[in-house]
Amino acid sequence: MKYVPLGKTGIKVSEVGFGGIPIIRLSNDEAVKVLLHAYARGITFYDTANMYRDSEAKIGRALSPVRNKIIIATKTTRRDAKGFLKHLEKSLNDLNTDYIDLYQFHQVANVEEWQKISSNEGALIEAEKAKKAGKIRFIGVTSHNIQIAIKLIKTRLFDTVQFPFNFIEQDAKNKLHKYSKDKGIGIIAMKPFAGGVIDNTALAFKYLRQFPDVIPIPGFDSVQSVDDIVSIYNSPNEVTDQDLEKMEEYRQELGRVFCRRCEYCQPCPEGVMITPAMGYPIVASRMSPQVSVEFLKIPMESTLKCTECGECIERCPYELPIPDLLKKNYDLFEAHRVHLKI
Ligand code: SF4
Ligand code: SF4
Repeated sequence: MKYVPLGKTGIKVSEVGFGGIPIIRLSNDEAVKVLLHAYARGITFYDTANMYRDSEAKIGRALSPVRNKIIIATKTTRRDAKGFLKHLEKSLNDLNTDYIDLYQFHQVANVEEWQKISSNEGALIEAEKAKKAGKIRFIGVTSHNIQIAIKLIKTRLFDTVQFPFNFIEQDAKNKLHKYSKDKGIGIIAMKPFAGGVIDNTALAFKYLRQFPDVIPIPGFDSVQSVDDIVSIYNSPNEVTDQDLEKMEEYRQELGRVFCRRCEYCQPCPEGVMITPAMGYPIVASRMSPQVSVEFLKIPMESTLKCTECGECIERCPYELPIPDLLKKNYDLFEAHRVHLKI
């Protein structure tokens, strides 16, 4: 494992980090085991968030004995000063630490949110005070919107930016990477598998390793998943013409309008199981219509309850036309079901 600078922060982190979402579904003991294994295999960068349920607490439980050997990044969705302070105290308490290395404003989606954060009653003032008091070392931001991400970097108020970075979503490579690098902003790559639609781990990391200053944070849910990715990083990287062709095939298959399974759109007031239903065409093409009809029957039937209220669209960071896509996917499901006589 190599250790690389995180922008101009002066800190070095392992070239691949640990994304803190999948440990939510593990028991405490399992999560501790996976986290300790990641640390033993050389991973020193741990990214979590206040909204990831007990992820911070699990990281605190496992890694507080090696606190000064690791870099912890967490996030708040609060935009107001009071809410920010509440989240910061919760993060410090759950992570069992006196300081957070990197505190990020989570999922800043539009100018209005940025105005709230940077207003006189906003969270930024408290973040800067916390930095002076030594409770935070660096301040970062995360976003899925390229215009907002660039706007925020231009303020020069942030040490890092976290953005979807993978071979399907090219905005990070084409619009964000060089600009952030020139400004000394650390880049953290969320969604290295584009929310699960890239099912070829080796190919995903062949692409990402071409940008050694970008730190991907794949989620880990087992000792094996840690070993798989660490072993990739312990081998030389070579991107062949055949790899580039495969990446292009994925791009052609998915286009830009696809679900990244982030689940920000949930919950639906009618109980529509949006995320699995959004993934129906991919499951059908990667597995088979037979498998997709059988496994996704309940989510697909739940889409019939959609009233097109639009709440989910407002919450989707990719502004996907969710009700329309659900209808299209249901028609495909129904066509498969009729054809297969299931
Ligand atoms: S538009 Fe449909 S799927 Fe989306 S929140 Fe409303 S009812 Fe649920
Ligand atoms: S529809 Fe949008 S918000 Fe919902 S899981 Fe997919 S990408 Fe995320």
